[in-house]
Amino acid sequence: MDRRKFLSGVGAAACMTAAGPVVRSAFAADAVMHAGKINRVAVVGAGIVGASIAYNLSKRGCEVILLDKQGPAAQASGNSFAWINATYFDTPRSYFTLRSHSLDEYHRLAQDVDIQVHWGGSLEWYDSAVREKEVSEGVRRIQTYGAPTWMVDTMRVKELEPNLNTRSDRKVAWCSREGAVHPGDTTRALVDRMLEFGGTAVFPATVMAISKRSSSWLVETDVETFEVDLVVVAAGIAVNEISAMIGLGTKLIKPATPGVIVTTKPMASMINAVVYTTDTHFHQLSDGRVILGEKAGPPATDQHLAYLTGHPNAYPSEELAMEHAARVISTAAKYVPQFVDAEIENVGVGWRPLPLDGLPVIGQPKSLPGIYLAAMHSGVTLAPIVGHLAAMEILDGVSVDLLSDFRVERF
Ligand SMILES: Cc1cc2nc3c(=O)[nH]c(=O)nc-3n(C[C@H](O)[C@H](O)[C@H](O)COP(=O)(O)OP(=O)(O)OC[C@H]3O[C@@H](n4cnc5c(N)ncnc54)[C@H](O)[C@@H]3O)c2cc1C
Repeated sequence: MDRRKFLSGVGAAACMTAAGPVVRSAFAADAVMHAGKINRVAVVGAGIVGASIAYNLSKRGCEVILLDKQGPAAQASGNSFAWINATYFDTPRSYFTLRSHSLDEYHRLAQDVDIQVHWGGSLEWYDSAVREKEVSEGVRRIQTYGAPTWMVDTMRVKELEPNLNTRSDRKVAWCSREGAVHPGDTTRALVDRMLEFGGTAVFPATVMAISKRSSSWLVETDVETFEVDLVVVAAGIAVNEISAMIGLGTKLIKPATPGVIVTTKPMASMINAVVYTTDTHFHQLSDGRVILGEKAGPPATDQHLAYLTGHPNAYPSEELAMEHAARVISTAAKYVPQFVDAEIENVGVGWRPLPLDGLPVIGQPKSLPGIYLAAMHSGVTLAPIVGHLAAMEILDGVSVDLLSDFRVERF
């Protein structure tokens, strides 16, 4: 069976089920149904941000069509380190606040969606005295906001993480409230829950054009054209391209930079916190898998540049992927020797959708009512709160103050 039709069919079936008494009563119980003018929404992009918005909208009874040119978590959200954090993102304060709200929102989300968040805190330190001072100043600043974060010595780290060798006497920033997820699994769980609430997912469907009708929008894909009341653009690194389609002149994100992410098969429990240091970062999920990231970027050789031009998410060969994974793991094994026994589940290359000033872009542009933008780095951290607040803004017609520093009009 054609996969595209199958997933679309699942959505349609779920729609029909949602009209029945059982499913509808399930979501009516924990969400106020919306009574506004927005009844039908297309979400462009089934990364974690689009999936979270689609889930929140369909949970509230809105008819949602989730479109992706590949499928859920195919790009950044499937190749992310996926640390859920608010530690040093303290400027402006509103960004720290938004991230902190999202940490709380993850706890609520886990009550409704089948996601596994590993809440093990985080440990961060660097080799240089200059970086140690910067981190320490950042910790003091966010302590004044009430964040549970402290600079601790290596003896305290040993108590927290007996298997971790910090390989330095530098002070370590310990934040007790942070965690991590498997980004692909989390995204797919949000899509599944959206389908249960009656949403439709059409994969693969490449959006080719978006145009305004008198009181609606037409979203043309290579499969079908959809007429909707509002379009959410959550297209990750393609946001500039989609924005140009709808007539938004402003570029929103910088040229994307790549990062290598290695996921191991499940291992015995070794480490609880997210570990982030000079030359590596890693964390272990509740199911035993370890996610590791490479700190160094790609070398600026012609061969690398030519290969990276098309933003690939995988290596050109299994052999090269394994070679890179072995390097990432051997660096991390200097800190946790047990990593040398790791077997690889996946090696991916993620491309960061980083807005021009580093801060998220969220909301309806004043010049384009009926379009809702959601582009950000740290989308894994932010997806729960962004999904929740976007649904409020779209369905209740309010402008949420918490998002006021993140509007597109600042560019
Ligand atoms: C290496 C790396 C490490 C990271 N580490 C962290 C971290 O520790 N913590 C954290 O919070 N964040 C982290 N991030 C950032 C985070 O992963 C991203 O911010 C987040 O995944 C973005 O999600 P998204 O849904 O906006 O974009 P994406 O996941 O990229 O989804 C966009 C989707 O849009 C689809 N699309 C694009 N164009 C079209 C079109 N024309 N038609 C249809 N569909 C289209 C794509 O196929 C894609 O699936 C990291 C990112 C990378 C790359």
